Amino acid sequence: MNTVTTDLAVLGAGPGGYVAAIRAAQLGLKVAIIEKNKLGGVCLNIGCIPSKALIHQAEIYSHALEAENMGIKLDLKGFNYETVYKKSRSAADRLSKGVAFLMKKNKIEVIEGTGTLSGPGKITVKSSSGEEILVESTNILVATGSSPRQIPGFEFDGKQVLSSDDALMLKKVPESMIILGAGAIGCEFAHVMNTFGSEISMVEMLPQILPTEDKDTAKVLHDSFKKRKISIFTGTKALGLKKTASGVELDIEKEGGKKETLKAEKLLVVVGRVPNTAGIGLENLGIETDRGFIPVKDYNETNIPGVYAIGDVVATPLLAHVASKEGEIAVEHMAGHAGRKSVDLTAVPGAVYTEPEIASFGLTKEKAILKGFDAVEAVFPYRGAGKAVATDAADGIVKIVYASDTKEILGAHLAGSRATEILHELLLAKNSELLPYDVAEMIHAHPTLSETVMEAAKIIEGGAIHI
Ligand code: FAD
Repeated sequence: MNTVTTDLAVLGAGPGGYVAAIRAAQLGLKVAIIEKNKLGGVCLNIGCIPSKALIHQAEIYSHALEAENMGIKLDLKGFNYETVYKKSRSAADRLSKGVAFLMKKNKIEVIEGTGTLSGPGKITVKSSSGEEILVESTNILVATGSSPRQIPGFEFDGKQVLSSDDALMLKKVPESMIILGAGAIGCEFAHVMNTFGSEISMVEMLPQILPTEDKDTAKVLHDSFKKRKISIFTGTKALGLKKTASGVELDIEKEGGKKETLKAEKLLVVVGRVPNTAGIGLENLGIETDRGFIPVKDYNETNIPGVYAIGDVVATPLLAHVASKEGEIAVEHMAGHAGRKSVDLTAVPGAVYTEPEIASFGLTKEKAILKGFDAVEAVFPYRGAGKAVATDAADGIVKIVYASDTKEILGAHLAGSRATEILHELLLAKNSELLPYDVAEMIHAHPTLSETVMEAAKIIEGGAIHI
């Protein structure tokens, strides 16, 4: 068996693992990264990037459909979804190749195969051809990510019952689709598939779509989906599934106990993700898990010194940028450059790429009050901003949640065009301990969507005035 000796062995090359590997190499560590599938992990290959490529094309198509209302005549001949799909794959492939280039540039050894923690400081890697390599390393970083959650009775079959992986690989738009789970991934698929003409029903057990988001921003999206004739069943349980020759039949129990059967060509089940921690040898090193996740201490170190865990295997928000930041924190500690001890969960941005977009960080007013803040909120509507009206994007809100006594920004919740971009001004303000006054005082170019942020801050300071 070949042996590779390193300062750091990274298990899994998603946005957690590959970013950590690069940072470690920059700090002078000798690094090997082990990946059983494609460099870039879920995010680049079967998550953030291909989904955003589909969303981008859906939006071009939807703008083309609306062009007539704006006096533009287009001879539109529909779309070729296979080309749309191929474009999303080429974005993913291009970025995965980009990661390979970065590994080479930073002299990181890439080991292809499935790694198992086989003893203290040891990972045994088995390649697809059966060859075994032993990696011996001073530090180990577990970054094996997550997989779609399956629920009994609704198991994926890749044909009628799809996971998000399957849905990203569709080469044809289904005539109709039921989406079980109205979180970020479910809503993004509803947006894409509905734009390309699929009849969509969404079933969500909790009382609102995007259950973790602010109720008012979620309502903006809910209303927009309703306008687009997406059927939404919130507070609804999926009772059972029957596969038929033409598709699926889903029995549901709606709020109040009324039962109904929904029919569609396909069912997409997006009810969360499970950490990839089974079968990777954690027990061989005595690494604990809690409901599948790996508990970590400061600097994302596990209960075993020298072994760290980051990204979707840790019970922090399952987001690419959280994985990357945790990777940086862990390797900076290994290299003796320790800074921040953990990700600041009050300042993690969340983004949902629907139309309108949803973006947020920090506390909602309700959660802030539960935490003991005397929290209030300022809300400015997009329709009050000239740029939003001029660009046909008047549906939306900017909400700032703040402490009434100190005016500290506790959270921000946006729904609207480009919300995922303009959120960051408020996040920077919070991270820099600025107050709404500072945001309100800063001159914002007119007309911009960012003026909505300034106007929301001005409400706190005594009144918004803009159109
Ligand atoms: P992963 O990206 O899951 O990578 C883990 C890697 O480890 C994989 O490549 C896997 O093959 C490898 N691996 C696992 N076990 C082994 C082993 N034993 N040996 C070798 N290799 C192994 N997040 C956002 O922030 N923004 C978004 O817009 C967004 N959109 C998403 C859309 C979809 C459809 C999905 C499914 C997810 C989306 N996410 C998004 C979530 C994001 O993809 C994840 O949070 C992120 O990929 C987690 O990164 P990670 O490095 O922890 O793990």
